[in-house]
Amino acid sequence: MLRIEALTKRYKTGDAALRSVSLSVGPGEIIGLIGPSGAGKSTLIRCVNRLVEPTSGKVWLGEIDVTATRGSALRQLRRRIGMIFQEFALVERLTVMENVLSGRLGYTGFWASWFRRFKQADIEDAIALLERVGLIDHIDKRADALSGGQRQRVGIARALAQKPELLLIDEPTASLDPKTSRSVMRLLTELCSEHRLAAIVNIHDVGLAQQFLPRIVGLNGGRIVYDGPASGLTAEVLTTIYGEEDWTANAASHADEEATDEGAASSARLLEVSVGPKVEAAQ
Ligand code: ADP
Repeated sequence: MLRIEALTKRYKTGDAALRSVSLSVGPGEIIGLIGPSGAGKSTLIRCVNRLVEPTSGKVWLGEIDVTATRGSALRQLRRRIGMIFQEFALVERLTVMENVLSGRLGYTGFWASWFRRFKQADIEDAIALLERVGLIDHIDKRADALSGGQRQRVGIARALAQKPELLLIDEPTASLDPKTSRSVMRLLTELCSEHRLAAIVNIHDVGLAQQFLPRIVGLNGGRIVYDGPASGLTAEVLTTIYGEEDWTANAASHADEEATDEGAASSARLLEVSVGPKVEAAQ
């Protein structure tokens, strides 16, 4: 449903942030995007909804060429792509309900949205979503009165109120404690499967990615260096993605691979690229 073809982004100020990245995400598929700071993760997800303009390459959402879309067609297309941010991006002085309903603004006429008049069906949907994310008792609270985990749940409900086909999720747990992070990741993966939503999750925490996301894409220096199952993240793969380090706590052992996902590592795409100290030493 999402196809990224040879996507390259070169910012005016520096080197290419993305170098010919190609990636497909199927309907209902959720992938974890990992890699060191500056690898191009944020740039990649922002190119998908054109918050960042790619330099070359294509992004297809179904049959629509996202990279060639302009004006009102682009606005319509963006309704199909929900975004969830690290810092939640809520309107602080609005209530939980109003924040969730703001997910419908792309569908509401100018005057109706000016007076914050929403259709009954939108209100009912928002209530159902708030029930689902466990915030029904906080519906009239102002966003600034909520905890971090609650705020992220509002962000999730707001993105779903948009009724997207694809979710772009940028560091959803970066400001949350470990227990809350797990419950947010669990909620996200459950909702993606309930709504058959495809998602790309930019995630710093390798352990969380391994626990919740079956397919991992590793970026380094703007290139995909790994695309395969979480069970294929061996110490060697993690070194390719992040560089030399003791990965024993994170690495999937070969025994685990054989027990849980036979042949998974061999189906993984560990791409030969010039990263990591080993390669540099050989040059
Ligand atoms: P990540 O999300 O993996 O940390 P980013 O996509 O933020 O990586 O950044 C990739 C590269 O692009 C980095 O070298 C970064 O400095 C550069 N970059 C990101 N945003 C901009 C920008 N707006 N202008 C110039 N360079 C940028």
